[in-house]
Amino acid sequence: MNHFSYQDGRLHAEDVDLAALADAVGTPFYCYSTATLERHYRVFAEAFPKGTLIAFAVKANGNLAVLKTLAKLGAGADVVSSGELKKALAAGVPANKIVFSGVGKTKAEMRVGLDAGIYQFNVESEPELEALNEVSGSAGKRAPVSIRVNPDVDARTHAKISTGKAETKFGIPWSRAQQAYALAASLKNIEITGVDVHIGSQITQLAPFEAAFTRVVELVGVLRGAGHSITRIDLGGGLGVPYRIDNAPPPEPAAYGAMAAQLTKGLNTQLILEPGRLIAANAGVLVTRVIYVKSGERKHFLIVDAGMNDLLRPALYDAHHDIVPVREAQPNDPRERYDVVGPVCETSDIFAADRDLPRLKDGDLVAILTAGAYGAVMSSAYNVRPPAPEVLVKGGEWAVVRPRMDDDALLATDRIPGWLEA
Ligand SMILES: *Cc1c(COP(=O)(O)O)cnc(C)c1O
Repeated sequence: MNHFSYQDGRLHAEDVDLAALADAVGTPFYCYSTATLERHYRVFAEAFPKGTLIAFAVKANGNLAVLKTLAKLGAGADVVSSGELKKALAAGVPANKIVFSGVGKTKAEMRVGLDAGIYQFNVESEPELEALNEVSGSAGKRAPVSIRVNPDVDARTHAKISTGKAETKFGIPWSRAQQAYALAASLKNIEITGVDVHIGSQITQLAPFEAAFTRVVELVGVLRGAGHSITRIDLGGGLGVPYRIDNAPPPEPAAYGAMAAQLTKGLNTQLILEPGRLIAANAGVLVTRVIYVKSGERKHFLIVDAGMNDLLRPALYDAHHDIVPVREAQPNDPRERYDVVGPVCETSDIFAADRDLPRLKDGDLVAILTAGAYGAVMSSAYNVRPPAPEVLVKGGEWAVVRPRMDDDALLATDRIPGWLEA
């Protein structure tokens, strides 16, 4: 469910006409819907027992305005760098709702988390435990820690976003989990709080989650038996979203929450969830204008003004995004098969191959759907292209929440060393 729909023949974000918005802010641009973000957050939060911490995965969409929208609803944050941590704090997420994940936290980043007083560190290796112990000792603190365990389950998702198999870099191997907890307990400046697991992203079945959570629940029993105090279970993120309108929808949050609640019933632990994609993906679109329609020998290319530097997912993961015209197509409009491509000088700069669309011409607008997660956050200035700006809509209002840099501002980021100055 999202709040992008046709009204008076044109695609709107809530009550804002995307064609008018394109004229006002220029193309390409990301557009996020407040009502959709809020709805997704609420539906997800309501699916879990009271007291569950819903820590939005900032890496999915780190725009301050998006984070603030969620923070106002009570969301916490799952961060993977000190930069994300500072953004979450700046957006009003209280430190005691922030969890710090990631395999490569530096000591400097740990210090930022400790000084802020975050809720917990999700630690992914023994050397990280030792480093955190050292940093928290020198800060005169004890670091709250959940250890991320790798349950060695197949998430049945794209290999590049699968994290719960033994051969990925994530988490402590299942066979060493108990030793890792023993190590943590022996470290003076570490306070064990719970267990953490995250098996991947865009997971469209409950079975892999269920397999992982079942293992985690068993581990909680074993760890408690060994005298560790386990008061929280962080189940990670990863519930998928429908990228194709015509595919079977992924499981509902309610079913996911009921499964998690059932498995952890009686353990008397707080649950933590780290959804990213599920909250943000369908709350955003990337609006782009057709620059040229080019006919090759075998194909028609729709060359649009957004590129892989704006939205990397198709190039990186072969991801599918539905694409729709901003002007509503009529049933009898002629149709055409297009490769929808960007201007970047890479063959992988393609948003869709052989896509059936109403016939389009230069100047027409299209919206690339389900682009609110892992979209703008992954953008770059490759080809010295200023990344697409971001706009947040609320009802009939809109605001640019990250402006477009101009070419000169991009140019001004480089420096000439002294020996090249004449
Ligand atoms: C990426 C990530 C998430 C968010 O995953 P989604 O699929 O966007 O819900 C949560 N936790 C961790 C540790 C992650 O790396």
